[in-house]
Amino acid sequence: MSDYQLTAVGHIHSPYKQKFAIPRQPRLVPQAKAKLVFCADFNREEFVRGLDDFSHIWLLFRFHETADKGYSAMVRPPRLGGNDRKGVFATRATFRPNAIGMSAVKLEGIEYVNGQLSLLLSGIDLLDGTPILDIKPYLPYSDAMTDASAGFADVRPETQMSVDFSESATQFIAQQKQYPELKEFIENVLKQDPRPAYKKQKDGEQNYGMTLYEFNIRWQVNNEHNYVSHIEKI
Ligand code: SAH
Repeated sequence: MSDYQLTAVGHIHSPYKQKFAIPRQPRLVPQAKAKLVFCADFNREEFVRGLDDFSHIWLLFRFHETADKGYSAMVRPPRLGGNDRKGVFATRATFRPNAIGMSAVKLEGIEYVNGQLSLLLSGIDLLDGTPILDIKPYLPYSDAMTDASAGFADVRPETQMSVDFSESATQFIAQQKQYPELKEFIENVLKQDPRPAYKKQKDGEQNYGMTLYEFNIRWQVNNEHNYVSHIEKI
């Protein structure tokens, strides 16, 4: 076995503050905006010269939150309701050898402010603080394969879930001005149905909480309906 040392080129500043409720792939929630902030050794405009000609980029990253939990040969993909097992290399599971993730995301812009180089991204599926190992431009002529088949993950996951907000949650969203897309962001995150498979099979109302940006959000799920009852600033 060969061992390699990897160095982060940057870190992600993401609204997703915990693993729970992060969409399972990029671009499912376009309102998920993030910044990739370069580390000191790579904090030079030369490193990204020409990148602004590309609309999308690949990010290779470390599943840093779960990397120390190791891996197993077979995993239970959430798409299969947690009942069926597949080889780890037949899935995009986080618990894998080397704990390397990859996401194709939208490049909204490149920023160089007060001596700090950052990429502005959207549609991300990354946890706040995720270390980025490499960045490459997305090449449609080679990377987009319209005739590809994808087994158990052949179609984009869709749910029938609806989302409603309480009076106080609606007011909270209207009062804050920093995130104009906050409502759509919360709606789309909840429509992905982040519940673990075993909870989906349960009847009756279930309570959940998550943090997006600096907001604690609480909601209840009953059948296919989400009710956002409360939002507060941390
Ligand atoms: N697009 C990537 C990620 C797929 S797994 C790939 O295919 O490799 C998606 C899950 O990764 C998300 O639901 C989120 O819970 C988890 N995740 C995101 N960033 C993470 C991190 N830094 N550490 C551990 N898990 C992370």
